[in-house]
Amino acid sequence: METHKPFPVMQPWTKEFWKATKQGKLLVQHCNDCQINIFFPKKVCPECWSENLSWIESSGKAKVYTFTTMLDMVEPKFMGDLPYVIAMVDLLEEGIRMTTRIVNCKPENVAIGMHVEVVFQDVSEDCALPMFQPVEESLRIKTTDQEETEKTVSETEMGLRLDDYQTILYEIGGKNNAV
Ligand SMILES: [Zn+2]
Repeated sequence: METHKPFPVMQPWTKEFWKATKQGKLLVQHCNDCQINIFFPKKVCPECWSENLSWIESSGKAKVYTFTTMLDMVEPKFMGDLPYVIAMVDLLEEGIRMTTRIVNCKPENVAIGMHVEVVFQDVSEDCALPMFQPVEESLRIKTTDQEETEKTVSETEMGLRLDDYQTILYEIGGKNNAV
């Protein structure tokens, strides 16, 4: 299921950004002429059309600006991820608003204004996707909870657990030696 999801398309001007994600770094473009920060990476500055651009590394600290919880009616490729939270977050130091996903947090615990930090989810050999998790550890899903959830899902997918087979009882007997 995972491998069928679309991967980001590499462009010469986004290559550096994706390369950094593999090293756990979130890069933001900076215009050396008009000094604005730019996201998503572009060929020229959207303000002054300069090509004199450089990269700065973001601290990855952000605040949730707004969010929505996807419960159903998504592309089949993403059905396995449900429910999940799509959010717009504001990078605190760079003045950048990013569309992303909130992860490691129950959807009901996500709130506007919540402090979040970047985490990277590997999707291919070339890139990882920047997503955000709560800074506050008590809001994060504990690893044991997650393992429990994954276990339940895989058992449901299998339909029957191995244990179920062991509890089948049968008797031979009756009038015609029926099973
Ligand atoms: Zn500029």
